[in-house]
Amino acid sequence: MKAICVTPHKVNSLTLRDVDIPKISEQQILLEVQRIGICGTDRDIISGFYGEAPDGQDYLILGHESLSRVAEIGSKVEGFSRGDLVVPTVRRNCDENCLNCRSGESDMCLTGHYREHGIKQLNGFASEYASSDSAFVVKLPETLAQLGVLLEPLTVVEKGKVQTYILQQSRMKWEPSKALVLGAGPVGILGTAILRLNGLEVDTVATRSAESLKARLIEQTGASYIDTKENSLGSLPSRYDIIFELTGSPSIALQAQELVGVNGVVCYLGIYKMQVDSEDEGNTFTDLVLGNKVHFGSVNANKTYFSKGVGDLQEILNKWPGLLEKMITRRESPDDYEIAYSPESQEDIKTIVEFKRS
Ligand SMILES: [Zn+2]
Ligand SMILES: [Zn+2]
Repeated sequence: MKAICVTPHKVNSLTLRDVDIPKISEQQILLEVQRIGICGTDRDIISGFYGEAPDGQDYLILGHESLSRVAEIGSKVEGFSRGDLVVPTVRRNCDENCLNCRSGESDMCLTGHYREHGIKQLNGFASEYASSDSAFVVKLPETLAQLGVLLEPLTVVEKGKVQTYILQQSRMKWEPSKALVLGAGPVGILGTAILRLNGLEVDTVATRSAESLKARLIEQTGASYIDTKENSLGSLPSRYDIIFELTGSPSIALQAQELVGVNGVVCYLGIYKMQVDSEDEGNTFTDLVLGNKVHFGSVNANKTYFSKGVGDLQEILNKWPGLLEKMITRRESPDDYEIAYSPESQEDIKTIVEFKRS
């Protein structure tokens, strides 16, 4: 079968290989991959920043954002039928099976020795067939047969939202009304939509012009799009109850702390590569204390968030027709993998590789 692979830590080793269809164990499902999504994590792996091959293998099959149909079911697997539309989660338990991993919370793994499909020691889903433990697979309705590939990126903000509400509502009476989303990539657009579904007034900030496709999709949800080239972050009129920081820019992350209101919460969802250049963080922390503010980080998502995410994805599909479809700005075949993984143009939002057009 065709599989899009890299040699981890070797720069630009992206290639299409012919590999064997995986054999499944009694607890596993064989997935017939329909399509996969590409994101910054894939590009970072291709650039050699991270990625680890499975034990005894010198390559890693890419792909953690996926949509598949069940092709074959292990003898001990229950609750799945051939042809079911499914999405597997990305992370699997650590060898130590720590408290969180054994509690279905591998996204909160304590040891850091977890494995991740398409990223760390487990093959991903950018191949015609792939396998996953059935305990980590969620089913989707047929209405999501095209757009269910957006579930994995949506779970990033699903977890952010769920944890935001748990944190806030367990420490006080809380009725948020205004949210700010920093960044309008695929996750920023989905985050905006999810917060709008919760009835919040949302401002979403990014660098693209107000006429861009991203801006139009943000506005379709009833949120306001703010172009930072026209308006600086400091000029935003409001103090926000919730901020999702998705840009990965340390300077914007620091500014987010100033934009959150009393009793507010900032959820950091970016990967911050550059060194923070600290001016006066003393003030920032005083502000945090005096404002009773919560700051927290969030990465990965367990099956709970995937299951909740299916409902939200369906609601976005119903409420804002065309929005999810328009997010997919490029569709390539596996043979055109080099084009698919090449840097995106300004108007690109999400690139998909179609393993099975259906
Ligand atoms: Zn991704
Ligand atoms: Zn663990």
